[in-house]
Amino acid sequence: MSSLAPYAVTAGNSRGRLVTETAPVGRSEFQRDRDRIIHSTAFRRLEYKTQVFVNHEGDLFRTRLTHSLEVAQIGRSIARNLQLNEDLVEAITLAHDLGHTPFGHAGQDALNDCMQEYGGFEHNLQSLRVVDVLEERYAAFDGLNLCFETREGILKHAAKKNARKLGDVGVRFLNNTSPSLEAQLANFADEIAYNNHDVDDGLRSGLLTHEQLEAVSIFSRHLAQIKQRYPALTGRRLTHETVRSMINTLATDLTQQSILNIKNAKISSLADVHAAPLLIGLSSQIKKEQQELKKFLRDHLYQHYRVVRMSSKARHTIERLFASFNANVKLLPTQYQIKFQQEEQQAIADYIAGMTDRYAIREYRRLFAIELA
Ligand code: MG
Repeated sequence: MSSLAPYAVTAGNSRGRLVTETAPVGRSEFQRDRDRIIHSTAFRRLEYKTQVFVNHEGDLFRTRLTHSLEVAQIGRSIARNLQLNEDLVEAITLAHDLGHTPFGHAGQDALNDCMQEYGGFEHNLQSLRVVDVLEERYAAFDGLNLCFETREGILKHAAKKNARKLGDVGVRFLNNTSPSLEAQLANFADEIAYNNHDVDDGLRSGLLTHEQLEAVSIFSRHLAQIKQRYPALTGRRLTHETVRSMINTLATDLTQQSILNIKNAKISSLADVHAAPLLIGLSSQIKKEQQELKKFLRDHLYQHYRVVRMSSKARHTIERLFASFNANVKLLPTQYQIKFQQEEQQAIADYIAGMTDRYAIREYRRLFAIELA
C-alpha cells in the first residue's frame, strides 16, 4: 500500500476492532469490512428502501441500494486520486445508509417524532447500531465487529447526549476533533451522488423540467456546454450527459480543493488530520452552486405535491405502526416482544427501522385491514 498518502488510514495506524480477530488472509482489514457489509441482511434490505420516490412508484428510480453503489463509486474514484484508503471509503459508503427507515427522510422524521419521549431516533446512530449490535451472523460477537475507522465514518453525526454513550467512536463529537479524510470524503460522495441523481430522477418522473432547472446555475452551465458540443441532442441523453458532466465537475473540484486544503494545513499524518478542521471540501464557487441546487431541489422536488403526498402516507404508516405496537406490545413478532423486555421502545424502533417500504405497507395491512383472506 505504498501508494497511500502518509495521512491515509491504514491497517497499521488503525485502532482495530472491538473484538480482536486474526488478520485476514488475501485481503485487507477494510476489504474484510466491506465484504461483511455486503453480506449483511441490512445491506440486502436497501434494495427495497426509498430515497425520494417510494419503491412502488417506478422501477427506474434510485433506491438506497443503487444510491449506496453510486456513492461508493464516486467515493472510490476520488479516494484513489487523493491517495486515500479506497477500501475504507468503499466500506463506509456501502454502509452509510444501513440504518435508514423505510420511506426515506419522511420515515426517519416520523420515527424520530414517535421516539421523542424514549431518546429519539437518528438514522446515523441506527446505522452504527446495525453494524455494532443488530446483525446476527457471527459466533464470536454481535454485529459485524468492523474496524474503528469504518464505524467512525458511518457515524456522520451524533447529538452530544448520544455521543457520550458511544465510547471511543463518540469522542470526536465531544472534543470537536475531525474524522479521517476517508470519512470526510464518504460524506461528500453521498452529497454529490444524491444531488445529481435527484435531478435525474426528478426529470425522469416529470416532477422537474429542463426549463425549471435552467434557472439553476450549475445545471444551466453544464447543459449549455453539452448543447454546444451536441447541438442535436435531446431527451434522456441530454439529461444524462448533463448530469454526468456535473458529477465530473464536482469530483474534480472536490479533489483539487482538498489537495490544496491538505497542503495549506501542512498535514503529514493521520494525527494531523484529527487535529485539523475538516479538509475535504469544494471550492467556494462550486459550494455556492451546490447550495443553490439543494435549495432548488428542496423547493421544487422534495416539496412537490406528489412527493409531499408520498411523505404524508409514509408518516401516517410509521406513526400508526409505532402507536399500535407501543400500546400493545403483543402485536410485535415474538422476538421483538422478548427484546422489548430489555430495550423497551428501542425494540419497536429497531423493528420499524429494519422494515423495507413494502414490508411496512404489508405490515400496515396485516394490522389494520379488515378483509376476507
Ligand atoms: Mg446517502
